[in-house]
Amino acid sequence: MTIKSFHPPQRTLMGPGPSDVSPRVLSAMARPTIGHLDPVFVTMMDEMKTLLKYAFKTDNELTMPVSAPGSAGMETCFVNLVEPGDKVIVCQNGVFGGRMKENVERCGGIAVMVQDDWGRAVDAQKLEDALKANKDAKIVAFVHAETSTGALSDAKTLVEIAHKYNCLTIVDAVTSLAGSKLLVDEWKIDAIYSGTQKCLSCTPGLSPVSFSANALEKIKNRKTKVQSWFMDLNLVMGYWGGATKRAYHHTAPINALYGLHESLVILQEEGIENSWARHQKNHLALRAGLEAMGLTFIVPENERLPQLNAISIPEGVDEAAVRNILLNDYQLEIGAGLGAMAGKVWRIGLMGHASNQRNILLCLNALDDALGRVKAPIKHGVAVAAANKAFAG
Ligand SMILES: *Cc1c(COP(=O)(O)O)cnc(C)c1O
Repeated sequence: MTIKSFHPPQRTLMGPGPSDVSPRVLSAMARPTIGHLDPVFVTMMDEMKTLLKYAFKTDNELTMPVSAPGSAGMETCFVNLVEPGDKVIVCQNGVFGGRMKENVERCGGIAVMVQDDWGRAVDAQKLEDALKANKDAKIVAFVHAETSTGALSDAKTLVEIAHKYNCLTIVDAVTSLAGSKLLVDEWKIDAIYSGTQKCLSCTPGLSPVSFSANALEKIKNRKTKVQSWFMDLNLVMGYWGGATKRAYHHTAPINALYGLHESLVILQEEGIENSWARHQKNHLALRAGLEAMGLTFIVPENERLPQLNAISIPEGVDEAAVRNILLNDYQLEIGAGLGAMAGKVWRIGLMGHASNQRNILLCLNALDDALGRVKAPIKHGVAVAAANKAFAG
């Protein structure tokens, strides 16, 4: 048998990531591959750092994309900042906080867990209580936008509390970057990582990170070697670093970086504040449609993410059957529940390029049809009108 070229179908991606990729990003990625130390490429890398600083709202010198997906950005933060024996307070309100715990322990650190209800923001008081009870803690870690539940936490306040107890902070901004307000310098975040496949609307596989001067000092003064050769920032900086001549560390994913460069240019054209506002406006229109149908959100209103809408599955509905109708008949992907939320929620992403009026109306219309076919107890024929009314208002 001869295997032929692979041609994926054209889908609309409204799940928890990857999100729809802008055609401009895809065409940028098809440009000619050049050497990763070519002076032209090095100039592009410098522009990339400038664009990432813009997206993160930071002047941090050490701001760059890790050559691997968001999970590797997470790991880069933990392996560089956590030394064996270090106590790390991890606030968990969903799946990704659990991965932070794994990372701490694999670095030889001691994870002190602060548990919050899934579907709620991280509780600042619980963090403060944990810091009072663990005066020897060195780092506080939490997820800004918990993609498994759709909850947004108050990063500014959590970082303030951590600093009051002399802790550095590691913040997961994989889903928040470009979708929710995020001010790395003003909020004094020490280490932050994101991903390209959520609100940046780039292909999966890169992880923008940024480290403050304080974080860098801790990394430079480590007593032990970073356990990961690939992610050791002391080495990676030789390639992505500032003034000194760039040296080979690993071969950068050249064409993937063209894509990220283009997606950041698009972000800059729109203006990051406008991007945050667009995500919020579109969330409100989707919400109007979903609520008109009788569907309900699991996160309280003032803790909701605009780019990730988690809604309860109506009683007795086969949730996978609904997602199959959307995928097969509408070429539309929405997300299932993850971890403790499996089988309980759908996650509708409105991320980056995918956060637009056309997608919202497509999704509401498709859900109306699919829920009718599985005989779910919802109100039919009202969702699209409710969303349009929200857009008009
Ligand atoms: C998607 C996601 C990750 C992991 O990113 P990958 O690109 O899948 O490795 C980490 N944290 C959060 C909050 C995410 O949503």
